[in-house]
Amino acid sequence: MEEAILFGPYGNVYAITYPEGVEERVMLAAEIIEALWIYDALPFQEAIEEHSAINELFYGLGHSAPPPTAGMRSWIKVIFQDYSRRIMELDPQHGAALVAKIRKYITEYDGTNVLFETVEDYIEFRKLNCHGSFLQWNLNIRLTPDETRLCSDFYAASATVMALTNDYFSWNMEKHEATDRVRNAVPIAMKQYNLSEKRAKAIVKGLAMDAENETRRLGLDLRNMGSERLRKNVEGMEVMLGGNCFWSACCPRYNATMGSEEREGCFAASM
Ligand SMILES: [Mg+2]
Repeated sequence: MEEAILFGPYGNVYAITYPEGVEERVMLAAEIIEALWIYDALPFQEAIEEHSAINELFYGLGHSAPPPTAGMRSWIKVIFQDYSRRIMELDPQHGAALVAKIRKYITEYDGTNVLFETVEDYIEFRKLNCHGSFLQWNLNIRLTPDETRLCSDFYAASATVMALTNDYFSWNMEKHEATDRVRNAVPIAMKQYNLSEKRAKAIVKGLAMDAENETRRLGLDLRNMGSERLRKNVEGMEVMLGGNCFWSACCPRYNATMGSEEREGCFAASM
């Protein structure tokens, strides 16, 4: 796998975000999340045209070459079928819940080419996320249905943090990509509010920080309920969000085109 995707100068994103995770689960989750990222980042036609580069990444995961006639989407289906099998092997008792969540995400999130007019609509869409399911699976925590309901606002706020943090830091890379489906709040805010790029980025940073405050507040309420599972879940989420923000601010993937001054500013924003 391409190291630049996973590593920043201060470490591997999955080691930073899931330090307490079960090792083999975190490793498999990392593969799956990477595959979701690749799928998310590529316009469909371009993905087909750049098939050889993508295949190289997938071969690195231990898969064989796709049939010559297979399109990108059918190849991705093959890969995710294999992931389902490997999740179930690692966790026969509860793996099905994670598999179902990933399938739902692929169908609802990646299955649409909708272009969003407002940041509000876009954030609702971007809250569709597997991050809470991966977190629980990686940490081997199983929330009860009641606990899951109690966490719903907390998960929604944290999903907003994940999305907007990614948008803020990845925009420098994504703005240079040709894409047929914009998945970043910065250009949406520019258009919706008639803002310069710099001011739209400031708005997105502010919304991310606002969602961080909300996540923190809701997390404190959950921690005070006395359940060990809820406490672990909240602490795991806080570490994951903090790690993701720190890594995003430092990783070459998002920061390769920045000058040192700009990089310093992003780094400071993550602290
Ligand atoms: Mg992004």
